[in-house]
Amino acid sequence: MPKYEAVIGLEIHAELDTDTKMFCSCKNDPDEMHPNVNICPICMGHPGTLPVPNRKAIELTQRVGAALNCELADISKFDRKNYFYPDLPKGYQISQYDEPLCGRGKLTLQNGREIGITRIHLEEDTGRNQHPEGKDYSSVDFNRAGRPLMELVTEPDLRDAEDVELFAQELQRILRYTGASHANMEKGEMRVEVNLSLQEEGLAEKGELVGTKVEVKNLNSVRSARLSVAYEINRQGDLLEDGKEIVQETRGWHDTKQATISQREKEEAHDYRYFPEPDIPPLSFNEQQLDERRRGLPELPAQRRARFAKEYGLLDEEIAVLVDEKPLGEYYEKVISELLAWAEAENMQDTSRLPKLAANYLLSDMKGLLQEHGGAITDTKITPENFAELVKMVATDAITSRVAKDVLREMFSTGADPSVVVEEKGLAQVSDEGELLNVAKQVVEENAEAADDFRNGKEEALKFLVGKMMAATKGKANPQMASDLLKQAIGS
Ligand code: ADP
Ligand code: MG
Ligand code: ZN
Repeated sequence: MPKYEAVIGLEIHAELDTDTKMFCSCKNDPDEMHPNVNICPICMGHPGTLPVPNRKAIELTQRVGAALNCELADISKFDRKNYFYPDLPKGYQISQYDEPLCGRGKLTLQNGREIGITRIHLEEDTGRNQHPEGKDYSSVDFNRAGRPLMELVTEPDLRDAEDVELFAQELQRILRYTGASHANMEKGEMRVEVNLSLQEEGLAEKGELVGTKVEVKNLNSVRSARLSVAYEINRQGDLLEDGKEIVQETRGWHDTKQATISQREKEEAHDYRYFPEPDIPPLSFNEQQLDERRRGLPELPAQRRARFAKEYGLLDEEIAVLVDEKPLGEYYEKVISELLAWAEAENMQDTSRLPKLAANYLLSDMKGLLQEHGGAITDTKITPENFAELVKMVATDAITSRVAKDVLREMFSTGADPSVVVEEKGLAQVSDEGELLNVAKQVVEENAEAADDFRNGKEEALKFLVGKMMAATKGKANPQMASDLLKQAIGS
């Protein structure tokens, strides 16, 4: 029995974030709920109309290509892909056949594997068929018809569910960082199709593809893509072990059954009778224009991860959150720049603690508050300056870390300045020795048993007493002093 390995290639569509549709000036509005509002004779395919390509959509596609190290074509063209379906009013889709905007490229996954990109082309989306429940008719909403859609095809270089998950997630980040698409799979803004075959291990490395491939559609999350790959590897492996043949077919992921279900077996290969779109002249780009696409790229997720590790010394998990949630990462950097400006003004020698401290408060406490109240970092009332000031107050022992949590909560609901909150509520850290010694004596008196335990060598008892002292001072006692003064009180 030969050992099998999976060979996987992806086809991914992304809805581009432009103001208008691909070939007309209708609004490109994915959130429009009323059917057939954003339509016109052009996107409805009326005779005698002329399509005009959307410059922004072309630029965004090239930008994604540049981000994936693709060759950017100097000559490109649109083609008609002919087929009949009710959601396609023209009877053909304007797409790109043999001269796509972007050719060969690659994406390196976080597990180190390098995945080849075959091509990226630009096309228009179709309308949407609707089947109202309990009605004996179907209807079509053409709001989506003609919206710009980018299609990316990978080489069959992926090998397992992890590769698929990492690829989909990294591409999703790149689409967001480049501003090309919101890439939300649940909303259909990014649609992944998986091609998968099994064949004897080692053949793929030699470029031999001999397995029968199955295409899996209907994946509306990264999770379902990952699960469907795992499912298909098992299903096809079982068939091969039983000496059965794999049927070349299209399957769909069924979320409730957690399985792929056969949708249709391969009919005769489609003949789309592609031919050049006669109403749109070929596109040409000079070297300067293509260079601009490459040079105009923002910092990409992989670069940001590397920089965050180097500059801030954060943990991989912390970096992952800050890079995945781009606005959170940007907020973080504003806080850091405030903190560093302050540290420089104060001539602070060792600033290495600050990035970590800021990340702690942002990723645990602040994120907790955002989750609790269902808000986004972009509309928080806490300005990065105020957030930085809070971190600074902790760093300089002006307040205890316990008090900082309460101050942050107050800032979150009112947007107040942390120094004002601390002042008004009297939350400044207490470091007055006389005052704290009195509290310590009181605590020891009230907790004689714990004090005895400590005298008898039970270190744990001291922690308990510090806790009591914190409670007595509403968290304001300088923790180190509290501990020292308790020992003094117990000793006396
Ligand atoms: P088709 O002509 O059937 O659409 P393509 O050659 O256009 O096939 O490839 C479509 C996708 O299928 C690409 O992502 C490609 O990497 C992948 N693919 C091609 N051959 C195989 C194979 N033997 N097993 C798995 N995936 C494959
Ligand atoms: Mg194909
Ligand atoms: Zn239109």
